[in-house]
Amino acid sequence: MEHTEFRVKAKEMVDYIADYLENIRDRRVYPGVQPGYLHKLLPKEAPVAPEKWDDIFRDVDQHIMPGLVHWQSPHMHAYFPALTSYPSIMGEMLSSAINVLCFTWASSPAGTELETISMNWLGKLLGLPDCFLNEKNDSPGGGVIQTTASEATLVSLLAARTRALMELAELNPDMQSSELLGHLICYCSDQAHSSVEKAGLIGLVRMRYIESDENQSMRGAKLEEAILSDKAKGLVPFWVCATLGTTGSVAFDNLREVGEVCAQHAAWLHVDAAYAGSAFLCPEYRHWLDGVELADSFAFNPSKWLMVNFDCTAMWVKDSTALHRTFNVNPIYLRHENSGKAIDYMLGSENANIKRNGNKINQIKATIPAANGRLHNGKMDEDKDSSDDLYDDDDSKLHGYHKMSHGCGKKIQLENPDKKELLHWQIPLSRRFRALKLWFVLRNFGLVGLQKHIRESVRLAQKFEALVLADQRFEIPQQSNLGMVAFRMKGDNALTERLLKRLNARGFIHAVPACFKGVYVIRFTVTSPRTTNQDILDDWNEIKTVASEILMDVFG
Ligand code: PLP
Repeated sequence: MEHTEFRVKAKEMVDYIADYLENIRDRRVYPGVQPGYLHKLLPKEAPVAPEKWDDIFRDVDQHIMPGLVHWQSPHMHAYFPALTSYPSIMGEMLSSAINVLCFTWASSPAGTELETISMNWLGKLLGLPDCFLNEKNDSPGGGVIQTTASEATLVSLLAARTRALMELAELNPDMQSSELLGHLICYCSDQAHSSVEKAGLIGLVRMRYIESDENQSMRGAKLEEAILSDKAKGLVPFWVCATLGTTGSVAFDNLREVGEVCAQHAAWLHVDAAYAGSAFLCPEYRHWLDGVELADSFAFNPSKWLMVNFDCTAMWVKDSTALHRTFNVNPIYLRHENSGKAIDYMLGSENANIKRNGNKINQIKATIPAANGRLHNGKMDEDKDSSDDLYDDDDSKLHGYHKMSHGCGKKIQLENPDKKELLHWQIPLSRRFRALKLWFVLRNFGLVGLQKHIRESVRLAQKFEALVLADQRFEIPQQSNLGMVAFRMKGDNALTERLLKRLNARGFIHAVPACFKGVYVIRFTVTSPRTTNQDILDDWNEIKTVASEILMDVFG
């Protein structure tokens, strides 16, 4: 394809996109295809000769589109929203055309600086404390766009792990980092997203799940109890993940209580607000943020509810040097002459490298050896294995890694010998120019437009909730928050399971389930910014019709 054809076909594509979004209600939201359907429709080999664009695109329209779930549809209620918007699409179009990689400031200066600016804007709109912003060159705090919330959680855990290992190494100079690693433990609620468990698995650390209260919220007292009992066993609590807006029921951990416990025990506090974070643009929802100043890192997905298309996870840290120490590599091809002068996502200022967060972070003061009598001054008791039986609780969710090889045998370096090292904020090297679409959305909607969108989703969810509550056959077992309602048919779980299965098979609406302590529910999330009152009424009618059929089948 050359310039002339591109000008024509790309304009047609814009029309196709606008038609698609404008008429999305006409499409069945959930496809009626079976596994392998596309294999039967497309050739087994890639073409040898170039193909005409119109032929290629015909296949998109006829074969690909009918096999998609239409996430932008007002009748999409599964998972959480994954919204896009016209300014975001324009940002994605332009960034894919110029296709710059923003890994160092030098690799694309405006790309990096726009990311810093947009993240400062967004952090302020959310009401995050100044310590998370990066408005001064030597500020240790700052925001970075990660790919997903899962990645932000992993990055946070790895940074906290490095910090903990460095501090422990200082106290136990004779111990290898692999031995120290064996003593680390981290925490999240039993409602946390599976990505938190995954981060623990990748980080090779034990994870303990704190039982949430009747509102699915992790509370400080339970966390403290677990931490104290683990410390008594010689373990070192180093990281806690609090969730604001759980996946199952949009429940909120008590951030202030959890934060105070973390501060007390020098544990890094990460906040996963993947879905709910967007709501903090509205001051009326910020009570859930109370205590955020106690967090070390905070992440949410503008790619969920904020209409910035996937991928875009906004992550802020108070002390970016903890990230840099974790991902510290320094090949010659990434250095540039402005190293140390500009703030970017691999190269922080030299000052930032040595300066900790203004208020000195509490250091882990763990006396690992003394606590359980297994290790003394960094040396093993001769008749004991290094880490077996350190934790003999039978909680099935604890990750044992005692026998794993984790390649961490080298000693932790306490001081960075080369102040000119490159400072990394993320796992991959290459990074897309994602700030552009975020910046377009922030400017084109403005705070007022974004707040209107969030409030409208919440209003529509409340409308749906009222319809459910008015029907004697249904119930809502948990409190509904923000744009999600988890409902069920009264009686056996099997009724609600059948209802969901049949709704999804009909394809007019799409939803997924959740389970709270054995109670099966259907999650109904308001997703589209174009959802109307009538859409909600139509969805409810569909649900009522199918429920009546099921009750007739079962009870006659
Ligand atoms: N955390 C929470 C609370 C979530 O609800 C989700 C997904 O919905 C995630 C993390 C994972 O998000 P991502 O797909 O961006 O990794």
